[in-house]
Amino acid sequence: MNFQFCLMSDTKPVSPIFFKDLKFFHIKELEMSKTLYSCIMELTYSLYQYKDIYNKLLTTDIDFEKYRTDYANNSSKLNSNNSYIFSNMNLGLNYHYKMFLILSKCVLDKLIPLFNYRFNSHLDGFHKKGASLINYLKKNMKENEFAEKVQLSIDEWLGDLIDLRDRYVHHSELDSDFIFYNNNKSSELPLLKDFAQPTIQVGKFSMDTLKYMEDIYDKLAHFVNDVLIFSKYNIYNIPPIVSKCKCGFKFGKLENDKTKLCIEKSFSIEVDNINLKLGHLTCPICNAKYSTDLNFWERFYPILKSHLNK
Ligand SMILES: [Zn+2]
Repeated sequence: MNFQFCLMSDTKPVSPIFFKDLKFFHIKELEMSKTLYSCIMELTYSLYQYKDIYNKLLTTDIDFEKYRTDYANNSSKLNSNNSYIFSNMNLGLNYHYKMFLILSKCVLDKLIPLFNYRFNSHLDGFHKKGASLINYLKKNMKENEFAEKVQLSIDEWLGDLIDLRDRYVHHSELDSDFIFYNNNKSSELPLLKDFAQPTIQVGKFSMDTLKYMEDIYDKLAHFVNDVLIFSKYNIYNIPPIVSKCKCGFKFGKLENDKTKLCIEKSFSIEVDNINLKLGHLTCPICNAKYSTDLNFWERFYPILKSHLNK
């Protein structure tokens, strides 16, 4: 059972770098990869909506025309000794920009369960700005090259991204507006395209909001792909055999000489892909599902083999 791409009708297809060369075989992986994929599509949607509103604003902003007329009619009342700052806050732009930040963090949080599935790391999200992932990699992996790669991403862009998202979620003081500084007290405002474009403060730098979003989207795509490839989502890798359910139920107990497997209660084994000998078990107590290597069960139950090869 390979992962199928589903394209949403109201948005453009996502960049193919997500899930490039990856295979999701098992029921649980499919569920998790679909959750991750739909989150990526929502992120894509936010970026496209932002771009769409942005382009329309610069070409046909009727509301802004009204604003300009109002300003021209009332500019004589302004104190000519002062200079003024005009900010055009667009709800649509701010909404999609903030959703983009929130969804970027969601993508990271939905990526980690797939990593966890292959490594049994007990990580359930991208916590502490990735420090928990780094700690796990450094403690449990022989080669630390990947930990260094993740650390580099955190230092270069991921840390700032999570800071921005936190600033919005916890403090709500994050806007990205068109700004115009009227120093010459002209009686007419220029066109919206003459305003300073929406910018945001990222770390020490001020950046164009749209360029920042496009850059992050691209980096996030590569990051997701790298983590999944590192987690060995390829056809050559089968996850370890689960012998015990999280509820405590034991699917089987090997005799000391490892020639016989004892089963206390019956449970079902379903086939996912007969050619790759992949299937899944269902716990009879709590209904949890686990991927399994069918070769393992055939070894102890030859009758299963004759059933499967029919
Ligand atoms: Zn169970």
